[in-house]
Amino acid sequence: MSLDSADVLVIGAGIAGLAAAQALRAAGRRVLVLEARDRLGGRIWTNREQGVPIDLGAAWIHGRVGNPLVALATRAQAPTFVTDYDSVVVYDERGQIVPDVIADRAYQDYRELLAAAGRLAENLDADTSLAAVLQQLAPDRLTEPLWRYYLNADLEFDTGGRLEQLSAQYWDSDAAFAGPDLLLPQGFDAIVKRLATGLTIYRQQVVERIDSRDPDRVVVQTDRSEFSAPVAIATLPLGVLKQNQVEFLPALPSRQQVAIQRLGFGAVNKVALRFVEPLALPAVQYWGYAGAATAKFTYWLNAHAVSGENLVIAIASGQQGLDLETQSDAEIVAAATRILKTICNCRLPTLAGAVISRWQRDRFAAGTYSYAAVGSTPTDFAALAAPVTPRLTLAGEHTDATYRGTAHGAYRSGQRAARWAIATLNQTRS
Ligand SMILES: Cc1cc2nc3c(=O)[nH]c(=O)nc-3n(C[C@H](O)[C@H](O)[C@H](O)COP(=O)(O)OP(=O)(O)OC[C@H]3O[C@@H](n4cnc5c(N)ncnc54)[C@H](O)[C@@H]3O)c2cc1C
Repeated sequence: MSLDSADVLVIGAGIAGLAAAQALRAAGRRVLVLEARDRLGGRIWTNREQGVPIDLGAAWIHGRVGNPLVALATRAQAPTFVTDYDSVVVYDERGQIVPDVIADRAYQDYRELLAAAGRLAENLDADTSLAAVLQQLAPDRLTEPLWRYYLNADLEFDTGGRLEQLSAQYWDSDAAFAGPDLLLPQGFDAIVKRLATGLTIYRQQVVERIDSRDPDRVVVQTDRSEFSAPVAIATLPLGVLKQNQVEFLPALPSRQQVAIQRLGFGAVNKVALRFVEPLALPAVQYWGYAGAATAKFTYWLNAHAVSGENLVIAIASGQQGLDLETQSDAEIVAAATRILKTICNCRLPTLAGAVISRWQRDRFAAGTYSYAAVGSTPTDFAALAAPVTPRLTLAGEHTDATYRGTAHGAYRSGQRAARWAIATLNQTRS
């Protein structure tokens, strides 16, 4: 494709951009995708440095029933693994197993408290943080290790936000598909590869300016070149938009600027440890660590149960997810192995290697996924889905109010933007 022959420029080759580009291609439109990185997939990142697939970004297809990613995984011939969150052993600070009956009871109490928090928040005149509401309802519970564990390993991981930042009124205003979650033992990037097939993608093109002042064309300036087309779709992550890394001409509408500022963008990080032999721990799918408040990793995926590799993935969410990024690799690995030793109460096998994510510092993500922060409302997500100008729209997980924060939400947003681009091109007979 020559530089100026595209009907549509798509900025970003994450799942939103690739979904948009594929839908446009299927409609017979010429599309050029501009991607800053040397790899595709954005926050879907299957790292293979250790010789085994490790998903440092999206890993779970959330909800099998009706989820468009299931069909994509099938078309990509990617094997899936039905995960079971009840296949878990929870440990206390000293590494003693918390009996199921106690862990289950605490989980029920925690769910009931969240329901009560929802009822209280509904009647508030002004929004406040989820932490403030929980504090009001059950101040004594919040410091209990098992409660802290569920709040961090379940809620802060799922939403990506810290309790102190989550909107009490809207933190769970999104929807989910039914059915069990699926893991992709050979890597989530199978979906990315499948979606990228047949597309024209220019890598290492860092977009610096998007100019849609001309009524007929959008001009996109990168660090290397300039591109133009009648229509453009920008799938820049919310973190990148928050940092004003890209100049929009004209400036984004004030409603969108308000939304960008008000919505939250979280920090969840993963540390994958590969051992030369299996660990002497219960062969369940997950291990939970209800340790001290400062314990970096509360939730662990035992990848051995999923793929047979001697691999464990430690997850740091909330403040711990942020703090991790200030530490060296050696410090992070030491913190993770300390917890493993505690819960294993054994000599760990030799560590063969480790990989660590730092999503906040990753310039082209600048965080992990969007959430409803205090003071935001679900209309903020919807506002970001409205066209910026008659020839430019945004897409990405943060523009899907219903399924924000997920890979399927991002995918849907790309399809939505493609429909808009096709309609725009049809109207203008371009
Ligand atoms: C740690 C973590 C765990 C997650 N777990 C799950 C999960 O289990 N299940 C799930 O459904 N979702 C999960 N998510 C969320 C999911 O990964 C994202 O919602 C989804 O991948 C976002 O897709 P996107 O296309 O909107 O954005 P991105 O994937 O971020 O794509 C945006 C693209 O734009 C590019 N870009 C940025 N700046 C520029 C620029 N200036 N010029 C050109 N290109 C640029 C980026 O490099 C990137 O490729 C997780 C995310 C993270 C980080």
